[in-house]
Amino acid sequence: MLSARCAGSQRTLKTFAGQRCKCMIRTSGIRNEIEVYDERFLYLTLGNAWVEKLYTGTLWAEGPVYFADGDYLIWSDIPNNRMLRWAGGHVSVFRDWSNNSNGNTRDRQGRLISCEHGTRRVTRTEPDGSITVLVDRFRGKRLNSPNDVVVKSDGTVWFTDPPYGILSDYEGQVGDSEYGGCYVFRFDPATGAVESVIEDFNKPNGIAFSPDESRLYVVDTGRSHSPDGEHHIRVFFVDAYGGLSGGEVFAEISPGIPDGLRVDVGGNIWTSAEDGVHCYAPDGVCLGKIRIPEPVSNLTFGGPKRNRLFITATTSLYAVYVATTGAQRP
Ligand code: MG
Repeated sequence: MLSARCAGSQRTLKTFAGQRCKCMIRTSGIRNEIEVYDERFLYLTLGNAWVEKLYTGTLWAEGPVYFADGDYLIWSDIPNNRMLRWAGGHVSVFRDWSNNSNGNTRDRQGRLISCEHGTRRVTRTEPDGSITVLVDRFRGKRLNSPNDVVVKSDGTVWFTDPPYGILSDYEGQVGDSEYGGCYVFRFDPATGAVESVIEDFNKPNGIAFSPDESRLYVVDTGRSHSPDGEHHIRVFFVDAYGGLSGGEVFAEISPGIPDGLRVDVGGNIWTSAEDGVHCYAPDGVCLGKIRIPEPVSNLTFGGPKRNRLFITATTSLYAVYVATTGAQRP
């Protein structure tokens, strides 16, 4: 892995592909800077779109999920123990007492799937608003604090289980790691089976599939509690039966850590970082970044055309239109 220092960015970006690049700044409006390290990023972003701040007032915003059928966005405010809903510029409380929910997604039927720190479980919200517990134990022992989640096209629910919700009472409730690890799990709602699919992470976090589901990207945020800890994305190859191989480091993110990530229709990986959203091509080249004024935790594609990037960043929710669309379903 080589490092490419991009003139103008004042940052050293380590890239899997060891790219050598010129950096240009695409300035949009008066508030936003888009840094371009590879020409491909010019076709993924817009020169006349800028970052909008849609809301501010969260303690730690996370888990954005978009509902195209209602044109609204739901996201988590973990320490405030609530979920918020943005619709047409208006923000309301979607769920008070969310059990310190974190990552959210939707299943193949469009139902909300949520990770909860406080109750150490993954839940599904039914169309009538009732909540079904999908999984809260592994081999009879409680999970740590499910963090982020994605649903595969076969309906299986893949989620990460780091200890952030049990390390303090701020984002959950202090507790012990009962099974003694921090695994990535696959849960099958059809059978109720839960199995660990990755066991060698320090603190697994964001998780996303490539558009054809041949790749699985998983973040490790070990650096949050160790200066020398992991701050990278690893890539696994997924076989026809959901089996995994590989697992090499795909990209090392700096500054900060990669928390949540999403993939667009072209297979490009959009990841959170301390200074904004970074974008990587499937070949591992860092294409560029969108600067955000606050540390970013997560993001998702939304809007009627799925071409609007909604970004949760510490106290605020931001959005910016881009020139690509999200790959996640439905
Ligand atoms: Mg996370």
